[in-house]
Amino acid sequence: MLKDADRIFTNIYGIEDVGISGARARGDWDDTKALLDLGRDKIIATIKESGLRGRGGAGFSTGMKWSFMPKEVGERPHYLVINADEGEPGTCKDREIMRNDPHKLVEGALIASFAMQAHAAYCYVRGEFFRETEALQRAVDEAYANGLIGDNACGSGWKFDFYIHRGMGAYICGEESALIESLEGKKGQPRMKPPFPANVGVWGCPTTVNNVESIAVAPTILRRGAAWFAGIGRSNNTGTKLFNISGHVNKPCTVEETMGIPLKELVEKHAGGVRGGWDNLLAVIPGGASVPVLTKETCSTVLMDFDSLKEVRSGLGTAAVMVMDKSTDLPRAITRLSKFYKHESCGQCTPCREGTGWMWRMMERICDGKATADEVQLLEQVTYQVEGHTICALGDAAAWPIQGLLRNFRPLVEVRIAGQKPQQAAE
Ligand code: SF4
Repeated sequence: MLKDADRIFTNIYGIEDVGISGARARGDWDDTKALLDLGRDKIIATIKESGLRGRGGAGFSTGMKWSFMPKEVGERPHYLVINADEGEPGTCKDREIMRNDPHKLVEGALIASFAMQAHAAYCYVRGEFFRETEALQRAVDEAYANGLIGDNACGSGWKFDFYIHRGMGAYICGEESALIESLEGKKGQPRMKPPFPANVGVWGCPTTVNNVESIAVAPTILRRGAAWFAGIGRSNNTGTKLFNISGHVNKPCTVEETMGIPLKELVEKHAGGVRGGWDNLLAVIPGGASVPVLTKETCSTVLMDFDSLKEVRSGLGTAAVMVMDKSTDLPRAITRLSKFYKHESCGQCTPCREGTGWMWRMMERICDGKATADEVQLLEQVTYQVEGHTICALGDAAAWPIQGLLRNFRPLVEVRIAGQKPQQAAE
């Protein structure tokens, strides 16, 4: 269990003053100039050594990502883009940072931008986050008023501007290249890669896109050292992490914990346990709607980190834990997710545009007891035809929940087939 002394987000529940005085009292903006004076190479090396992996879902090394930016600034300026779109169902961590600990994000943006030689950061905030945008804007205004950002950020001589851009509510704009398109004022559709944003990003310039949490933890890592962060969790899965626990638990919550905490401990210590007790657990989606669902047996032992969840063929994703007890109609719940992904497909590539709708309709047939055993088999095959055959990961996100259902809960699906009447199957 994480010690209080190791917590990074000390005001995540908004109990203390959110403004600059409160933030300073909690250690934010404490001699930030000294951190900048470390120099670009040292900053990037420290973030690399800390083992910080991107907190938006993919889990790529943050320091490594920063190092992909061109070493010299040419004719094209560099940019940092912060992904605050947070549209993954079940996920509600970045909004807490913006609402209650926004100075960590603004300070982190300055440091990350300096390290990548960007004079501006754009924070793309999900359009529905009205209050969060207000809170973040207040923090930005305070930082300008106190000379922490602006023409001479923290007295470092570095010019740095922070802009907030509000999105319009499309899930796909959380995908980094769709976000860039949207930021440019275009329809939010993912780009083919390569080129990657570090070469051709926003307005054709070198750009790094990072998640809110990844940026917000950077100042504390630099202050406390890479070894401190790397000492929390386990090898290759280091540091602290914000977890969201929702669904059939007694006390849904957002909590900062050690990366790699056992899932059962996370649910029982922080969320008051499963409704009706652990034995009443049916399934858990451990990392936001797109990752495969796990059985109770797996949940009893699995650790909440990138590698452990990959080993059980699921994923940490955004660390949004959705708990479902035995009252849940699991095929119906997964069908609802299929409908969501069908609705959010941008329509650009055929396997996703056609496949998401097709998979959703097949799931509906299963739930209604109209599907044959052959159709279930076909559905499974189609998920593998969609997975990995699309421009962006939305195709995978639509396929994985169904794969998880069929892999781990097949009897629940087969019951639906067994209940069919012959004339229904022919419809
Ligand atoms: Fe659009 Fe889906 Fe293709 Fe992604 S996978 S680009 S959302 S059609």
